[in-house]
Amino acid sequence: MKLFDGHIHAGNNTQAGEIISFLDRIGGDYGLVLAADHGKWDDDNPDAVCSDEAVIRLVNEGGGRLYGLSSVSPYSEGGAGRKAEKAFAKGLKGLKIYPHGGFFPNDKRLYEAYELAQSKGYPVFIHTGMKAQRSQRMIYNNPIYIDDIAVDFPKLKIVIMHAAYPWTEEALVLSHLNKNVMVDLTFLDVLSYTYGRDLLAEVTKRFCKVLGSEKIIWGSEGEYLGLDAFRDDGISRVKNCLAEIMDFDFISQRDKENILYNNTLNLLGGNR
Ligand SMILES: [Zn+2]
Repeated sequence: MKLFDGHIHAGNNTQAGEIISFLDRIGGDYGLVLAADHGKWDDDNPDAVCSDEAVIRLVNEGGGRLYGLSSVSPYSEGGAGRKAEKAFAKGLKGLKIYPHGGFFPNDKRLYEAYELAQSKGYPVFIHTGMKAQRSQRMIYNNPIYIDDIAVDFPKLKIVIMHAAYPWTEEALVLSHLNKNVMVDLTFLDVLSYTYGRDLLAEVTKRFCKVLGSEKIIWGSEGEYLGLDAFRDDGISRVKNCLAEIMDFDFISQRDKENILYNNTLNLLGGNR
């Protein structure tokens, strides 16, 4: 079965070969690399930044196996719209937003970038739920603000990352009520053992039943991050997560293909 990893972090100095090697080891065909602009929070945490330029370089050097998303915040230099425009002109295929850096995703300063993504048919991936570092603020990660964006941009494809845990109920309802909103399962395997609850299975089962597997995607996080909350066993964690999904007997083979490959490919243009 083909595999599209829809969530790979990188740093400004990450080499394309490192990500390709990672994909090979997890059995992945394609990977989506995410830039990281957390707004003002980045001023104190420069190691967490991944520039659009770095992602453009990774995509260009990835031998056709890497796609990339630009990252914008209300504090992006020159404005979020201008930054997105430049990134799209150089081949990035959508946006990644990190509200926990200190802004709400429905901030009007982001609307020009959303407008542009909508006009090009590019998706917007929005981090929701857990925060990555203690100094961030979870209030900004509540998915409820995404409803505003979904209504204001009815044709914009929006992905609620990490199923918004602990706000999974909100994520389910938001996606159910908005045709243009999807849900991502990345990191739920880690949250399952962190919080002693089988979240990956629970969310996959229920969300597939209510939303259909066409509205669900998966990613690994990649190898780059060293997050506080990340009890990372690296490759074995990712392989175990994939094996668990493949073993689910409550969804079909077609559902698995949608979640692990088709949906992410379609979101990004679907031409491979
Ligand atoms: Zn991530």
